[in-house]
Amino acid sequence: MKCANCKIREATEKWVGQGSIMDYTHGNYQMWCKKCIARAQLTYARKQLRKLPLRIKKLEKEVERFK
Ligand SMILES: [Zn+2]
Repeated sequence: MKCANCKIREATEKWVGQGSIMDYTHGNYQMWCKKCIARAQLTYARKQLRKLPLRIKKLEKEVERFK
């Protein structure tokens, strides 16, 4: 079976999207190759990293609220 994403490499992994455990349990996934999964995970990790400074700022404020 070919990867559902690139349709070039052999699909060896189940791809369930961005951290959606729910989909996995409902059997809602695609077969992807390792490279496509690694690439998607990298994109996701970069997105998370970009959000981190904002999240840290918010948490710092939250901590300051409680004396
Ligand atoms: Zn692929």
